[in-house]
Amino acid sequence: MSHNPSRQILALVDLDDTLFQTRPKCRPGDDLSPAAMSREGEPLSFQGSHQRILLSLLLEKALVIPVTARNMESFKRVHLNFTQGAILSYGAVILDPLGQVDETWREIIWPKAKRDKQFLRSVLNLANSLVKKESLAARVRLVSDFGLDFYLMAKTEPDKLPELTFLATQLAERFEAKVFLNGNNLAFLPGWLDKGVAAQYFLDNHTPLPARSSSERLILGLGDSLADLGFLALCDYIMTPNQSQLAQLFGTTEK
Ligand SMILES: [Mg+2]
Repeated sequence: MSHNPSRQILALVDLDDTLFQTRPKCRPGDDLSPAAMSREGEPLSFQGSHQRILLSLLLEKALVIPVTARNMESFKRVHLNFTQGAILSYGAVILDPLGQVDETWREIIWPKAKRDKQFLRSVLNLANSLVKKESLAARVRLVSDFGLDFYLMAKTEPDKLPELTFLATQLAERFEAKVFLNGNNLAFLPGWLDKGVAAQYFLDNHTPLPARSSSERLILGLGDSLADLGFLALCDYIMTPNQSQLAQLFGTTEK
């Protein structure tokens, strides 16, 4: 087999519920190791052995790029060894392989966030008033990075999922945006915020062999949710944890 020195393997990876998860979502009896901390510095999310093996395999063979809803602050609480850059806040922030904020991307995205500041505030206000009026158990907040709001997130208790569906429906009726509902997690994103668009920019600007080159390149994609489809669509192969929202679409989850 000939070895091509310009051969490149990239892995675009979602983090939460793909490479680790909170304890209630872990497999019973699994050998767990902490992967991400709470704000208080306590272990909050964990990897099972299958996730450790997969990640070490990827880190050994590929340039691994996290593509996550986490903002800078919560990404720093992930204690895994990513060194090739990252896509944060659903694509609002791009870190280059040196860990620096991509300024060109920032100049594209920041003005959109500033323009939509009132839009997100209005969504938040409606969400909060619905929570109050309907006595919902949901916790709603805006997720911001570098002082700018980028999207709305709502979480509820696992036994209150219909309440989140209700909230999502109500917000979607009033505001034009992208709604991702996955388990007890609701994300409400302005149309311009997109993991896929950010990932394409990253591939074009921060990988040694841009797509237009004729060199050999393989792109792997890992994600669990509908919110990951944008960047998974850029990949040659896609992988999802069994039991995930995407696995349910594939029909491979256990009955
Ligand atoms: Mg995920």
